[in-house]
Amino acid sequence: MSAVKACNILITGANRGLGLEIVKQLSEDSCQKQHIYATCRDPDAPKSEALRELAKKHPSVITIIRLDADDPSSIKESAKKVGSLVGKNGLNLLVNNAAIVANGTVQTSSVEDMKNTFNTNVIGPLLITREFLPYLRTAAKASGTPGMSCNKAAVINISTLGGSISRMPSVYEQFPVLPYCVSKAGLNMLTVLAAEEIKADEILCMALHPGWVKTEMGGEKAPLEPKESVEGMLRVIGSLTEMQHGGFMDYTGETVPW
Ligand code: NDP
Repeated sequence: MSAVKACNILITGANRGLGLEIVKQLSEDSCQKQHIYATCRDPDAPKSEALRELAKKHPSVITIIRLDADDPSSIKESAKKVGSLVGKNGLNLLVNNAAIVANGTVQTSSVEDMKNTFNTNVIGPLLITREFLPYLRTAAKASGTPGMSCNKAAVINISTLGGSISRMPSVYEQFPVLPYCVSKAGLNMLTVLAAEEIKADEILCMALHPGWVKTEMGGEKAPLEPKESVEGMLRVIGSLTEMQHGGFMDYTGETVPW
């Protein structure tokens, strides 16, 4: 059973992979007041069918919202929409999950791949955090409890070991995905700086590594199923306090070195 009891939750990249599994597990186990804003860049496309089916199964729990992490106007629009839906309760939990991967080394990475990964994996979460911040603040204030937790107000950035400057060199040969790693190292710095900026609001912010998981991004060779990774991540998210604010952990709850 998920320890996440946050009322209003928003997830990016929710139409497939880990994002879809997060929505699935949360909706199967939702408490009465819980509502999930499952966002994706193309809600009507065939690739979003599984999410549409899930929303049909849980109509009072899931609302699908269009949000393209590469498109600042879609981010603004989605924030406006969600803001009006959550009202005075605010947004308790924002999960920045959407990301893209690109292969390459110092010798082969293209300018386009460097720009695209940075746009989606760093600028996207930056603008999303900024636009949803007023609603996270509302939730933090409305909670009336001291300290930090995901049930009060939190931003979880789904990162990767690939963004760990100290861990990556030893696995670079196995995963030559330089544009992705550089962008996720950027996301890690964004996490630390956002945590610093929003700590006065008592909004928790941290980075979470899901493990190496069988999704389109993780590929067939990955040892973990999405179910196991997401069960672990939800356990970790549900257990967070101000002690983990500004930190980097994996789906088992282990601290990951920057
Ligand atoms: P997938 O490639 O399976 O799914 C990526 C999701 O991100 C899709 O829903 C995709 O939507 C969405 N997305 C991509 N670009 C955008 C955009 N511009 N706007 C909105 N949504 C977008 O990846 P995973 O599910 O495996 O990865 C989820 C997270 O976990 C990522 O942050 C990833 O970096 C991280 N991670 C994954 C690992 C793994 O082994 N799988 C390992 C370490 C970290 P669309 O269908 O429209 O493309």
